[in-house]
Amino acid sequence: MRRPTELLFVFLAAVSGGLSPAGAQDALLLRPDRVYDGRAMHAGWTVLVRGGTITGVGASLELPPGGRELALPGTTLLPGLIEGHAHLLLHPYDETPWADQVLLESHGERVARATVHAAETLRAGVTTVRDLGSEGAGYADVGLKAAIDKGVIPGPRLLVSGPALVATGSYNPRGAPEWALPKGADEADGVDGLVRATREQIGNGADWVKVYADYRWGPDGQARPTYTQEELELVVRVTESSGRRVVAHASSAEAMERAARAGVRTIEHGDGATAEVFALMRELDVAFCPTLAAGDAISRYAGWRSGVDPEPARIRAKRESFRVALDAGVRICFGGDVGVYRHGDNVRELELMVEYGMSATDALHAATAGNAGIFELADRGRVEVGLLADLVAVRGDPSREIRALRDVALVMKGGEIVVGPEGR
Ligand SMILES: [Zn+2]
Repeated sequence: MRRPTELLFVFLAAVSGGLSPAGAQDALLLRPDRVYDGRAMHAGWTVLVRGGTITGVGASLELPPGGRELALPGTTLLPGLIEGHAHLLLHPYDETPWADQVLLESHGERVARATVHAAETLRAGVTTVRDLGSEGAGYADVGLKAAIDKGVIPGPRLLVSGPALVATGSYNPRGAPEWALPKGADEADGVDGLVRATREQIGNGADWVKVYADYRWGPDGQARPTYTQEELELVVRVTESSGRRVVAHASSAEAMERAARAGVRTIEHGDGATAEVFALMRELDVAFCPTLAAGDAISRYAGWRSGVDPEPARIRAKRESFRVALDAGVRICFGGDVGVYRHGDNVRELELMVEYGMSATDALHAATAGNAGIFELADRGRVEVGLLADLVAVRGDPSREIRALRDVALVMKGGEIVVGPEGR
């Protein structure tokens, strides 16, 4: 029996060694039981892939001369999932606490782990990841993205944010003042400091600028706003000049409101949100990334046994605030803060979105066309002619049972089969 590490090497070799059965120009007709195109389910549809893109979709496609057909009985074919909030440079906190990862693990170890995380994520059917902060690993995410794009290592297409921006004094690790501990993000403040830091992160390869609009630095360790309204607006203005968007970490209602008014594209976490804040986000078209799975994981690490112990107050509040967000009609992003929990377990967030009150079809939409829309990625997220052939087939029907997303039968990225009958 092979150990998991050996299996991974087999997988790495298969992907980087050029096993590309979907071939550069060969037409491949995929025949699942049904296709979810990002909007609706279509029984009996087939999908034609050629040269890395989708060239045909529908019920009566003909196999072009020289083309091949791949039968995928019992499966649903859908766009490759788009994870909205990941940290490929972190691993689960029950293995190693966050601060120990930031302070004690070497850059080399963290990058090595991240390459494994990227492969695991892709194999789970996630073909695009927005990675929201290297947490002390500088621009390692930019390098990881380059290595994936050059075909050196397997992984999803990445949107990265580099070190991210935090207000001085607000972020961790914090220890004795005598020690200048390295932080999990770059400290920058005020007009000159923020303009410079924002431009520096963009220049070093950030696709998104991440700003922490609040953090747990209140008198009793509660989340309190960090940046002023003017500072947030400045970061947005500088970032948008470059054609990029800003993402804000915010848990408190006050920081969420400041970030929304400043013009950020998405707000992450939002545990202390109110109906008024969600209404404002809807009005200003700011999407909400609830990171349900991170809260769930952290409660479990603290000893909570789901289904046995009473639900912790934190989980109950999150469940209620997610309901308020749904009722407010705010755009919901699929992003679980994966890295707090195991990479490749991304579907956990979608399962919780459904458990907390979203329909399975809405969750599927969020994970595909929804996130593509929020992230302004016109080339993916739907099964449509002309788009990238980033596709996943799962056994069963995830619009009835979201858990079916875990039973992956095929993963294709840019027309190349990564997992599937001919992939490994
Ligand atoms: Zn995060």
